[in-house]
Amino acid sequence: SAQGQFLAFDEFGRPFIVIREQEKRARVKGLEAQRANINAARAVSNLLRTSLGPKGMDKILVSQDGDVTITNDGATIMEKMDVKHQVAKLLVELSQSQDNEIGDGTTGVVILAGALLESALNLLDKGLHPLRVCDGFERACEIAVKHLEATSQELDVFANDNELLKKAAVTCLCSKVVSNRQNELAAIAVEAVLDVADIKRKDVNFEHIKVEGKPGGSLEDTCLIRGIVIDKDMSHPQMAKVVKDAKIAILTCPFEPPKPKTKHKLEISNAEDYRKLYEQEQQYFVKMIEDVKNSGSNIVICQWGFDDEANYLLHANKLPAVRWVGGVEIELIAMATGARIVPRFSELSSEKLGRAACVREIGFGTTDDKMIVIEGCANTSAVTVLVRGGNKMIVDEAKRCLHDALCVVRNLIKDSRIVYGGGCAELMASLEITKVVDMEPSIEQYAMRGFADALEDISNALAENSGLNPIETTTWLKNEMKNNPDKRYGVDCNGVGINDMKELNVYESLQSKVQQLQLATQVVRMILKIDDVFAPSEYS
Ligand code: ADP
Repeated sequence: SAQGQFLAFDEFGRPFIVIREQEKRARVKGLEAQRANINAARAVSNLLRTSLGPKGMDKILVSQDGDVTITNDGATIMEKMDVKHQVAKLLVELSQSQDNEIGDGTTGVVILAGALLESALNLLDKGLHPLRVCDGFERACEIAVKHLEATSQELDVFANDNELLKKAAVTCLCSKVVSNRQNELAAIAVEAVLDVADIKRKDVNFEHIKVEGKPGGSLEDTCLIRGIVIDKDMSHPQMAKVVKDAKIAILTCPFEPPKPKTKHKLEISNAEDYRKLYEQEQQYFVKMIEDVKNSGSNIVICQWGFDDEANYLLHANKLPAVRWVGGVEIELIAMATGARIVPRFSELSSEKLGRAACVREIGFGTTDDKMIVIEGCANTSAVTVLVRGGNKMIVDEAKRCLHDALCVVRNLIKDSRIVYGGGCAELMASLEITKVVDMEPSIEQYAMRGFADALEDISNALAENSGLNPIETTTWLKNEMKNNPDKRYGVDCNGVGINDMKELNVYESLQSKVQQLQLATQVVRMILKIDDVFAPSEYS
């Protein structure tokens, strides 16, 4: 290539080309660059293809330090894959933006982008200019979005005890590892979102939903807690496990007597001295506990530990206590319960205590795992979903699944228009584009047709993953759609033989689908506009 070469002349004046070997840069230009980039991106999207839909496969991803992740969540696979190629990285970001804004559809968006790129490559090979391809794709995308908006359906998501919200969450969970508990988890997701939702303003504050996981127990033990959960237990096994109408003292000072400074010498020469010292220590503890009791507090949360003596005295004085609570959690509890964090026993007073309806220690069946739950906090409606499962891998995956389900429910509350899944929405958009293209005089018609073709890839992939013949299935679906415009045909992934997604209740939010189409189109434009790649040669 031109940059790595220069012209020289030999002793007879004949020119020859020197390739600078030490120049460690590889450069690819023009169609060659586009082709290379498209292929890299498609390699990534092909990898995700088998993970799409309820029959999608899971992937095992092993990180460099040996951590194992099992998932079929597009965003997670992309995040954990160590993608080096600079253009393939754009697809990783694509999946992440879908995840950040919508939460689900992270696999679909990458597959769509891959299909669009494949179409684009065909068009480039035919001699279409990349920018014409982009323009055609964008116009087609606009048509698709308009058509989906026009044919979308507005749902009353709160009717029948939030039936539709639950169904949407179930659809989202059915393709995941946790699918055997999908109904329970879906119900938890719906309850959690409704707890923090402002229905009138159609707003959901996601910050108020925490998803915490603790390996151990089983998925069935997963539960919704209307408050905060911390991974600690009461400091003494015989302390009360439940404190109703809690008045919480949050202390950042340790329950221990002041340490003698090193420059003082402490000499204990006989039993009498020792007894005196012991009594003095006891006095300190007694005073501390008195301070706490006098403030009106009935439970102590302490950033530091305390020794056995203090622990015993707390227990004897019927003052349940939690020790070694981390700084972040201390602040969270203080905020939620309206407590002030107290650095010295002498500063304790009634108005500095935090309030909660109940603080309790929960155990899990036969294990000795314990956690502290603070419910009915004075200052917040925050809820925590506590995810349990056999091992860390399952808990992590269940947390991701729940995140998706929470997003789906939130999205439906914010905008309750839906389109149907199983490839239905994509095929409807595809048919509409084809219809419009027939009247399109400009050469963008080719690109628009390419876009319409690419949309078929979703139903193809879903069919393939369910063991059906992709082309036959998609052709059949398209025909049925043309003949019955009121029905919403889609791929029957679970082999139940009904293809009307309305009857099967397989739907996705309009917003999610629109976002998928727009993000995929944008990223394809970005990739097509690159016609020159300079990179250190090891990356090319
Ligand atoms: P994503 O990460 O993109 O959400 P999923 O693996 O969850 O990927 O698959 C979602 C796709 O599977 C969507 O196209 C959705 O319409 C389809 N789908 C989900 N459940 C069903 C079902 N029961 N029947 C047919 N298609 C389904």
